[in-house]
Amino acid sequence: MLDVLNDAVERAGILLSFTPDRYWRAMARAEGADGAMGELVLRVTESMTAGTWPRLKVCVSDACHWAFYDTSRAGTGKWCSMRVCGNRAKQEAWRDRRRTNE
Ligand SMILES: [Zn+2]
Repeated sequence: MLDVLNDAVERAGILLSFTPDRYWRAMARAEGADGAMGELVLRVTESMTAGTWPRLKVCVSDACHWAFYDTSRAGTGKWCSMRVCGNRAKQEAWRDRRRTNE
């Protein structure tokens, strides 16, 4: 994963510059797909800086694997939706427990 991100940074030619308002900005110099990937990588760095990156997850359901933003208070969410994937997993666990108790 790190190689993919670092490769995207290199291909995009990420440029960092300081601005008169005592801030900075980063942008991709490349155009096309490499530039688009660079912009995506920059959104990742913004999320890392804001501390929200660990909450961007992939649903653990084998039938789903959707990307989702974990809004649970403790940040321990596993499923994209409790109503769909969470309930499905709990029903399967309940059926497994019932089978082993029979
Ligand atoms: Zn899901």
